[in-house]
Amino acid sequence: MSDTAFQPVSGFDLPRYAGVPTFMRLPHITPEDPLYTSVDIGLVGVPWDGGTTNRPGARHGPRQLRDLSTMIRAVHPVSLTKPFELCNCADLGDVAPNPADLEATLDRTTNFYTQLKARNITPLTAGGDHLISLPILRGLASDGPIGMIHFDAHTDLFNEYFGGTRYTHGTPFRRAIEEGLLDPQRVIQIGIRGTMYDGEDIAFGRDNGVTILMIEDLMERGFADVMQQARDVVSNLPTYCSFDIDFLDPSFAPGTGTPEIGGPDTYTAQRCIREMRGLNLVGADLVEVSPPFDPSGGTAWVGASIMFELLCVLAESVAASKKPS
Ligand code: MN
Ligand code: MN
Repeated sequence: MSDTAFQPVSGFDLPRYAGVPTFMRLPHITPEDPLYTSVDIGLVGVPWDGGTTNRPGARHGPRQLRDLSTMIRAVHPVSLTKPFELCNCADLGDVAPNPADLEATLDRTTNFYTQLKARNITPLTAGGDHLISLPILRGLASDGPIGMIHFDAHTDLFNEYFGGTRYTHGTPFRRAIEEGLLDPQRVIQIGIRGTMYDGEDIAFGRDNGVTILMIEDLMERGFADVMQQARDVVSNLPTYCSFDIDFLDPSFAPGTGTPEIGGPDTYTAQRCIREMRGLNLVGADLVEVSPPFDPSGGTAWVGASIMFELLCVLAESVAASKKPS
């Protein structure tokens, strides 16, 4: 049971449009706060899109995700999971980015997540473009490679762009495999689609043992079968979940830089995440929400709702790991 200091503001007490917007109306806690050492799950923003190769704007994601996340209530409607009672959850603020310095931002992000790991805080991150997953993994996988369930229209396994640039939002998982942060045998990618450059990314992934499922696998086999395969691939060892909002069909999530048609609906995404219950999860992120492409906030609302689904499975995993045996 979590500390009362970590309860979100209820819509019964203060209307959900009122107050300062933090992630899911949780307390904002900084490292100087005495409560910081009691945090189990930290919700973190990484407002940076310096890895974007085409249409930018994901740097504005965390702020709009915080705003729309005030719509989230406290209990999961199907599993009845109460993440804010299972774990001490808090909004830990943003990693301070440098919009003009890619390497400095990667280092700052790595340091932030190294600190979280040292304090046994499990992160749920809002991006930012997908390159932010690389420094997050550098912080979390310092003890050795981990597994990953990756929802995306793209593999993000490219080698380089523009004649030698190795760090973009199309390369994070290539680098993470090379750096020994991910065990490719325990990585599964779901939802891959869209026109291709040359297929070199998919060839690299499959040559290294990554399980790459095209969108046809999900649509034709269904979420239950595909997610059973995902559970088999990652096993009960430490696993990260990375969710690119462009996994979804652009009719549900148009506010993103690299949309691809022919994607799943929001219900399918929810069912996929619910099938992750009971896994050994060490963190998750939701990336590539780009508010300038959807000023209505609709995409951020979808993103915040996906974050709540991720939070519920994370909270169950964290609570199980902290239970005295
Ligand atoms: Mn991606
Ligand atoms: Mn993508």
